[in-house]
This record gives sequence, C-alpha cells and structure tokens, in this order.
Amino acid sequence: MSELGDVDLDYMRRVIARACAAVEEGNRPFAAVLVAADGVVLAESCDMSNATGDPLNHGEINVLRTAHVNCGLDRMADATLYVNSEPCSMCAGAILRYGLARVIYGTPAAVSRPYISKNPRGLSFPSAPIFALAGQALQVFPGVLLEEARRPFELYAGKAPS
Ligand SMILES: [Zn+2]
Repeated sequence: MSELGDVDLDYMRRVIARACAAVEEGNRPFAAVLVAADGVVLAESCDMSNATGDPLNHGEINVLRTAHVNCGLDRMADATLYVNSEPCSMCAGAILRYGLARVIYGTPAAVSRPYISKNPRGLSFPSAPIFALAGQALQVFPGVLLEEARRPFELYAGKAPS
C-alpha cells in the first residue's frame, strides 16, 4: 500500500490522543501504536522514560517489545507503526530490526524538538539515515496530520516549568 487511507488517519488521531494522555499522566509527549495488516492492534504505548528513569523507554520500543512477546516477528512483518512524532535513531534502528512494513508519523523532529528541549543545540537523533538503510522494504510517511500532531507538544510545553 503506497497511499494513506482513512484508517491510517484514524490511527494517527488515536496515537496523538494517546500522546496527549501521556502528558496528562506526567510522561513525555510521545506515543505509538502498532497495527497488523488485518487491522488488529498488536500493541500500544507511550514514552515511559520519565516514569521509569530509563531513557530507552520510548513509546516505539515499548510497543515493539510488547508485540514481539505477544505475537512474534512473523505477525509484525506486515504491520504499520503509527507515531505522533518522528522516531529517534534508536527507535528507527529497532523498527528495522523488527522488520515492519510501514512507519507513519506526525511532526518531524525539527518541529517537535523545540517543545521538549530549551537547548537549541540539544542532542538530535535523526531517523532518516537509518530508515534509508531499509530501502524499499520500509515505507515511511512523515508529516501526517502535522497540525494536530503538534498538540501533545503544546500541552507538554504548557506544563513545563518556566
Ligand atoms: Zn525513540
């Protein structure tokens, strides 16, 4: 499938809402949901690194590990990962390792980073060079529902101490 459908937009709105809920729960403004080609939701999570203190607890990693335990790699091979923002390079590498079919995300890192870091030269982990390694095996759709996808970051910035 090379075009996005209404179902894709529905899952994007679901993951944006989950990221907003994550902020309300005291977590960072990131969430992910993994959906098999037959429409079954394999896993759904948010960034838990604030809650656990583990910087690897990104929403994508949580989702991939949960789906792997519950379903196995074969079930994940045709799946789509929806994320409200561009995955970091760690998560992009994990996405390649798990062999997903598609990644669909909202805000590019350049849009979301200023909301979560006051340091303009803060660490940046772009995913594009990692995703490029997959070639045609992975379809990547950036910038989907871009304006709606800003909402979790606006919420997060509004809660941050000034
Ligand atoms: Zn990540």
